[in-house]
Amino acid sequence: MASVPKDAVDLRSDTVTRPTEAMRDAMRRAPVGDDVYGDDPTVNALQERVAALLGFEAALFVPSGTQSNLIALLCHCQRGDEYLVGQQAHTYRYEAGGAAVLGSIQPQPIEQGADGRMSLDRITAEIKPDDPHFARTRLLALENTWHGRPLPLDYLDEACLLVRSRGLRRHLDGARLFNAAVATGESPARICKYFDSVSVCFSKGLGAPVGSVLCGDHELIEQARRWRKILGGGWRQAGVLAAACHHALDQHVGRLADDHARAERLGVGLAERGISASQHTNMVFVDIDAALSPRLTSAFRDANVLASVPASGSLRLVTHLDIDDAGIERVLSAFDSAMAAVD
Ligand SMILES: *Cc1c(COP(=O)(O)O)cnc(C)c1O
Repeated sequence: MASVPKDAVDLRSDTVTRPTEAMRDAMRRAPVGDDVYGDDPTVNALQERVAALLGFEAALFVPSGTQSNLIALLCHCQRGDEYLVGQQAHTYRYEAGGAAVLGSIQPQPIEQGADGRMSLDRITAEIKPDDPHFARTRLLALENTWHGRPLPLDYLDEACLLVRSRGLRRHLDGARLFNAAVATGESPARICKYFDSVSVCFSKGLGAPVGSVLCGDHELIEQARRWRKILGGGWRQAGVLAAACHHALDQHVGRLADDHARAERLGVGLAERGISASQHTNMVFVDIDAALSPRLTSAFRDANVLASVPASGSLRLVTHLDIDDAGIERVLSAFDSAMAAVD
């Protein structure tokens, strides 16, 4: 694999951000201890801070969003239980089936609308009766933001209260929860109000090199600590990483609005060129046809723009900390070159 050229405009994902100098300074200064012993003061402070921010009793710092979601599922569900989840949800589709592989937990995927919502009727219909023919329906898992869209608060509340009334637990894959909070003006705690657990990523738009935090009550987080150890995620002087997350909370939350504004500028620029695209928070999805695809691939290569251009279908472009205004203009120019080549 080749490394990324220094001046690339890398729109593949918001995971590609590299720690800023200030973040690296914060990491270097961090007091640390052995986190398996619970001794790392920077990790402990991060866990307390994120729990308070999201309105939970406790939290656990873990290496990745995938591990965080998996641990949550393992805490909520026993062998032979099932969880209701979106057909396209990250937890179901992009985490290598971990809950089934390691927890004998059966997913019940449910069709989603274009806005990411599963209808409340479909959710209700998939809650199985107490009958030995069926897996025990234990949990509803939602994802916010959904392909950049913040889910409406009404929907989150209604879905959670519906399944709560049926005795189910609720998990939120909030990989980009802070994008949702900044875009809607709702506090993270309000968005998380009816969930039993929430996972947030620091390695995406918040710009930390590594790390996610799982929030829940004391009992869930105690169990989660055991599962993290089983999964090989018991780490030691992780305070150097937690320091990056503290720095991200201090410096990189409010500025997510800049990423959203740049994505909007990109979406508007594409619309001005007659290119069909939709934009929410820091993501732009562009419709690519078979004629444009090879032209755009070479225009991006010439302009040193990185993106995963499909042969046809939807191209996702993601803005983040390392994309500035000039970068957006370079991307739009590359579209101009590609379209000139098509005409
Ligand atoms: C990135 C992501 C994850 C997983 O995070 P990793 O740290 O890459 O394992 C989970 N859910 C969603 C919605 C994500 O975008």
